[in-house]
Amino acid sequence: MLTIGIYPRKSVYRDNSDSVQVQVQLCKDYAAIIYKEQEIEFKIYDKDEGFSGKNTNRPSFQELMADVKAGLLDSVMVYKLDRISRSLSDFVNILQEFKEHKVEFVSSQESFDTSSPYGEMIVKLLMVFAEFERTSIINRVTQAYAHRSEMGFYMGGRQPYGFELVPTVIHNVKTKKLSPIPAEVEQVRYIFEVYAQESVSLRRLLDILVAEGKQPLNGSSWTTAKLSTLLKNPIYVKADSDVYDYYDRHGVQMVTDVSLFTGEYGAQLYGHTKHDPNAPDWSDMKLVLLTHSGIVDSDIWLKCQRKLEKNRQIGNSVSNPTSWLAGKVVCEKCDHTMTTIKGKVNKSGEMRRYFNCTGRSHKKTCTGPKVTIYAEDLENMVYECISEKLADLKEMNRTTRKGDTAEVNELKLKIKAIEKSEKQLLDTMLAGGFNDDLLALANQKATQLKRDRLALYERIEDLKSREDEKDVVVNLAKSWKTADYKRKKAVAMIMIHKIVISEDGSTKVLWNI
Ligand SMILES: [Zn+2]
Repeated sequence: MLTIGIYPRKSVYRDNSDSVQVQVQLCKDYAAIIYKEQEIEFKIYDKDEGFSGKNTNRPSFQELMADVKAGLLDSVMVYKLDRISRSLSDFVNILQEFKEHKVEFVSSQESFDTSSPYGEMIVKLLMVFAEFERTSIINRVTQAYAHRSEMGFYMGGRQPYGFELVPTVIHNVKTKKLSPIPAEVEQVRYIFEVYAQESVSLRRLLDILVAEGKQPLNGSSWTTAKLSTLLKNPIYVKADSDVYDYYDRHGVQMVTDVSLFTGEYGAQLYGHTKHDPNAPDWSDMKLVLLTHSGIVDSDIWLKCQRKLEKNRQIGNSVSNPTSWLAGKVVCEKCDHTMTTIKGKVNKSGEMRRYFNCTGRSHKKTCTGPKVTIYAEDLENMVYECISEKLADLKEMNRTTRKGDTAEVNELKLKIKAIEKSEKQLLDTMLAGGFNDDLLALANQKATQLKRDRLALYERIEDLKSREDEKDVVVNLAKSWKTADYKRKKAVAMIMIHKIVISEDGSTKVLWNI
């Protein structure tokens, strides 16, 4: 039996993270993948909602650490690394603590796992960085969202099952509105409820519907493809802030302000290109809240999305990456994240990706940089910056290493001196020049000298192991030259706080170290 502690956290400010419940579910799903065939017991530490990651002074977190120290946990899972702490040195100390108590540490969204050699390398790297840490990670700036309260009208497309289109007027525009067909709505609700159950696959769902005679009332018949399309459609959900977060996290352009996601209305996903739900970046799509009432509760609907997504992940593990800088690039003018967008294919058949300000694309409150920020250019530039930074770290290592060597020499001299004293003491004792009192004193002195000598040896060992750690930087500087996407992303995630793009296209990299 494995005992896994799950630590979710959401801070007061909208920190772009999913709700605590979703974080827990994502961890559980990930645990089921990596610890398959093992019996798992979960302990949830979820009382830290509203606490920031500035320090570790959080009740549930303290409880978690107490359990780690008491040996009650085999593994600790978070959904993202920054849930634990935003301070690198705190984070490293915590990882050390986990290691001491043989507790694995896993982050589900970043596929980070201290028991893998790759994870181990990152941990060593973090330890080295922590030594050089000068400024702690800056708290994420809260974003003042411009108030946009628009709800949209139906953006076209085929009429979704369960509804009919009736003419209406919204914002003085003649348009169409979705009106429910009760018998069909009943079926849709049933489909979501059945699929939300753990054991029900799409195939099984189809079988159940057929067996129960619940074919579509319009005379057609269900297929797994049709069911999958239906289940993905936000038209049916009672869209609340969790649904907003779900799409926001996928990079979808949010047309309606989050304050209107009250859990009442359905929403529509639309865009000018054909939407590929398997692509990691959905920034070519927009989500608008509609005026019809949703019919499926958000937790059931989101559960279904997670199941569908998990199926996709299994079938599509090598997804086409957008940029290894994704999530780090920010527009200076409006402080919104910049996401990658695919450009047109040029004459030589290449497709260029570029970074686009979401304040411009979603919220129309920013004009964004005046020049095109090609992802490739930015990646190359940051790649060079990291190479330089690693070279700097290597240089700093060399200097400290020189210092260490000097200290080791000095320690060795001290040991020599102690050994000399020990020898003198022993000689005197052997010569028999002591009475009982003096002999007791001499013994005491001998013990003291031995203790000092051992302490000096320990210090030398300590300095030597520090050198081993520093080799990681040297190795990383070497392997950075051949780093793949995953490694680049991991290094960028650790080293970079954010990359700020100004209006004239100039770039500032803010480092975590
Ligand atoms: Zn902007």
